[in-house]
Amino acid sequence: MLETKRIARVKALVHNLTRWSGWMGIVGVILFATAWFWFPFPIENFRQYDASRCITDRNGEILRTTLSPQGQRCLPIPLADAGKWLPVAIVATEDKRFRRHHGVDFLALSRAIGQLAWNREVISGASTISTQLVRLANPRPRTLPSKIIEAFRALQMETILSKDEILEQYLNRAPFGSNLVGIRAASLHYFSKEPADLSLTEASLLAGLPQSPSRLRPDRHPQSAKKRRDHVLERMVECRFIEKDRSKASIQMPILLEPWTPPFLAPHFVDSILQGKLNLPSQTTLDLHFQKLTEDLITRHSSDKAYGTGVVILDAANGDILAMVGSPDYRNKRGAGQVNVTLAQRSPGSTLKPFAYALAMDRGLLTPEEILKDNPLNLPGYQPKNFDGNFRGAVSARQALIQSLNLPAIEILRRIGQKSFLETMQGLGLTTLNETRDHYGLNLILGGGEVRLLDLARAYAKLAQAKPGDTISPEAAFLVAKILSGNERDLAVFGHARNERIPRVAWKTGTSARNRDAWTIAWDQQYIVGVWRGNPDGSPCPNLTGIQDAAPLALEIFTEISDHESKNIHLPQPPLGLAKRTICSQTGLPADATCLQTIMDWYLPGISKTSSCKGDCLSKANNPSPAHTSPHIIRPINGQTFALLSDRENPSLALEAEGSGNLYWFVNGSFFRKSNAKEILQLPLEPGIYEITCTTDEGHADFVRIVVE
Ligand SMILES: [Zn+2]
Repeated sequence: MLETKRIARVKALVHNLTRWSGWMGIVGVILFATAWFWFPFPIENFRQYDASRCITDRNGEILRTTLSPQGQRCLPIPLADAGKWLPVAIVATEDKRFRRHHGVDFLALSRAIGQLAWNREVISGASTISTQLVRLANPRPRTLPSKIIEAFRALQMETILSKDEILEQYLNRAPFGSNLVGIRAASLHYFSKEPADLSLTEASLLAGLPQSPSRLRPDRHPQSAKKRRDHVLERMVECRFIEKDRSKASIQMPILLEPWTPPFLAPHFVDSILQGKLNLPSQTTLDLHFQKLTEDLITRHSSDKAYGTGVVILDAANGDILAMVGSPDYRNKRGAGQVNVTLAQRSPGSTLKPFAYALAMDRGLLTPEEILKDNPLNLPGYQPKNFDGNFRGAVSARQALIQSLNLPAIEILRRIGQKSFLETMQGLGLTTLNETRDHYGLNLILGGGEVRLLDLARAYAKLAQAKPGDTISPEAAFLVAKILSGNERDLAVFGHARNERIPRVAWKTGTSARNRDAWTIAWDQQYIVGVWRGNPDGSPCPNLTGIQDAAPLALEIFTEISDHESKNIHLPQPPLGLAKRTICSQTGLPADATCLQTIMDWYLPGISKTSSCKGDCLSKANNPSPAHTSPHIIRPINGQTFALLSDRENPSLALEAEGSGNLYWFVNGSFFRKSNAKEILQLPLEPGIYEITCTTDEGHADFVRIVVE
């Protein structure tokens, strides 16, 4: 009786329990389903990392890594770059059923609960890589409710992210001691290697760290780290990821670390990116090989005339920066080493002239052998001179560009119009030319504005790779490059030591007023090399010139980076829109029957002007007008050397010339005095070199050079 009563009570209990658990199950499912939709998985937390910026060159070589906004070193990589061993070592150690469960490992969970009930302590954890990832992305206090939330989120996550995506996230978010987050930062820091290059032994060491990063740091606690590493290796054997023998061999190995020195390369370039002055992705266009070569050459070409040097190398095809050096020594505080002069605004000297010549050719206003006047220009308050103080009288456009003569350049600027030229240069990216046409006046062509070396080199890239329909036509760009790439150009810089391996390269120099800036831009169809020298504070640099101080460096860089074998064979072909015609050698205009002497010259059919010489040359040859007579300096005699006598006060030298009309005397490029024929002037003397020019109203000139000791 008692027995049956007891059985009945147990039956009722079981019945009630079943009924209640059934209800609880149903309520649980409803709550779970509601929560699932009410609290959708915060996938946005997983879309980005608190990552460092890792600026690399075009081949992925690290130039610099920064700390993340929260001060961590975190360099996320795709799972494909994690290497062979690290992912499996992590799975073996942290979550061996990772590939089989759905975010929560119920087998491990029930075992953990059982152990907790039996032993009253936690022996094995039930956390999975998925629940750990949820915690890493959104840290919570380690309480039971947190664990329930994390398990719930892990189940949700597994429906959104694939196993590989979850593992990748975990590898990039796991802590590895100090401020190292993720396997790449850890691999670089401890082994100076990319994760893909880690050996089994090294990967096993890293895989053990996330469990307790500060206690297991191999650089501080090698014993504990080794013990943990060996445990990881044993787990890998259990999971059948490796053979027993393999783990035994690895366990014999000591811990060998190779601490990393974070790179600090191409510092001005990287600074400019981090400061937002250059808008480039983290994998930049820089070529570390070109960069180092440029830095070395700057050191070898050090100049005592100026303490600043800036160089850019660009890809002519797209203007991409391949090298950028902003000063000879980034760490030199006294010489403003951290100032990036390639982005500084400086006077371009004569470096804009090729654009004016090209534009004039494109508008039918100029052909290469056309004769221009190199005569003094007397505008009120404006008497521009040539760099050497001489005037050549009549000179071909080709020679005027090669010699960078100022008066012909002003004539060309007048032909194309100041406004048009300014707008063209702005359109080519010289955005710092932001004043009005009147502000610059004719001086714009002689360096009256301010440009940045990088912008200038990019404008030349457009010249180097001109295409039909561009601002400058391929025909005009070809002619300008041809004029500026002849052999006589190289001789001027290299003299007798001319390097036979010099590639065929066009180049233009510039020197600004008071020798503040020395420039050279060298280009072919592949590269642009831009060099600037001067003092970053803008102070004058005595005797600094583009040809002496910038051109040798630019051309040596070009020689180093060019592919010489193919270069000299494959010279660029003339574009289709160019042809040759017979011109009068006296005027450079199309010849007619009366011309005494003719030569061939390039022109743009349908564009270049066709009006012929019309006997102009003949009349000049037969009736030389007195005004055309060249002056002749009688004293001093060219090449003389004078010795100053110490007992003489205020030493001076007599200047005398034959000629007609007014005579204008220039000494070392500066106007000295006006005289008449046979009038003797006295030039005060100091030791030095004197280049003395005498010109007439018409611009005919004579020139002598003397030395005073
Ligand atoms: Zn003629």
